[in-house]
Amino acid sequence: MIRLFKGAAPEILTRKGEDWTRELLAAVEAGDAERIKVATRRYNHPEVKDALKDETKGKCAYCEAKVTDVAHGDIEHVTPKSVERMRTFDWENLTFSCQLCNQNKSDKAGILDPYTEEPSEHIFFAGAFAKGKTPDGARTVLELKLNRIPLIESRNREIERYADQIEKVFLIKDDRTKELLIRGILEDLNTGQPEFVAACLAVVMQYQPKQVA
Ligand SMILES: [Zn+2]
Repeated sequence: MIRLFKGAAPEILTRKGEDWTRELLAAVEAGDAERIKVATRRYNHPEVKDALKDETKGKCAYCEAKVTDVAHGDIEHVTPKSVERMRTFDWENLTFSCQLCNQNKSDKAGILDPYTEEPSEHIFFAGAFAKGKTPDGARTVLELKLNRIPLIESRNREIERYADQIEKVFLIKDDRTKELLIRGILEDLNTGQPEFVAACLAVVMQYQPKQVA
């Protein structure tokens, strides 16, 4: 998980958000389960999903797997809509996640919010394994199952790829070229675009020369 930043709300949500909320509340008032279901699903609009995908670079906001390569991905409510129905169409409460993280999170509370917290203060990586370093971090790792086998395998693959690149850079004689190449790798990770940035950054940082005091 890495820190994410909210972009501008898509036009459809700005224009329709209030109407949709009213429609949903009326359905709740009427106690009509089918109407509630239909009204709730209004957030699932292509414009909303595209804007969220831009924000997360097409990755799951929680596990950082590239969702769009293998599945459609889900619009995810950071605060579950079952907990705060009024926030069903609240742009600030929406993100994009893979189906598994979405299912694992379900309506659980106390999961780290990558938009308001710096995840690296709560979760660290020991190789491909995510570990909690605060109670919130530990809860997030356990509840979202951030060490499920396919994730470990994919993280390992990416970590190895970066480690290989850096070890090849070490064989270059010219120090300036070496420094530029390593800086390039770090800049690439810091764009947030690659998969599993948090785990890969932790490994890449291990290769930084020790600062002599
Ligand atoms: Zn995920």
